[in-house]
Amino acid sequence: MTRGAIRPETPERDRCESPTKRGERCRMAALPGRKYCLSHDPDPATRARVRDGQITGGRNSARLARAVAKLPPDLRHVYDRLAQALDDLQAGTLEPGRATAMAAVARAIVAVLDAAASLERIADLEDLLKAKA
Ligand SMILES: [Zn+2]
Repeated sequence: MTRGAIRPETPERDRCESPTKRGERCRMAALPGRKYCLSHDPDPATRARVRDGQITGGRNSARLARAVAKLPPDLRHVYDRLAQALDDLQAGTLEPGRATAMAAVARAIVAVLDAAASLERIADLEDLLKAKA
């Protein structure tokens, strides 16, 4: 997901002020009212508010926040854990290997939920066909 990703037409003043490792300016859009993007904002309170969906960054973030809010509980749980892992990774409190394992398990969970949703849709369609027959 490209949360806060900058678009070509995004004004320079809306960009994150953090320098990258290469010494260039970060290309992400700054969070509303902040100087930094989600990845670079050092304020824990701001990061917590972003994680909870209270504030969003970039033009696509409102859509993302709505999409997250509509997730079924199981997928929301996966999303919340991964978002927390991203913060923990950046803070250095989560080992990269554990994050990689989490991502693999999360993909497997999503695949199972996707299969379950597909089976449910097929069952609904079969019921519909039987009712019409
Ligand atoms: Zn940044």
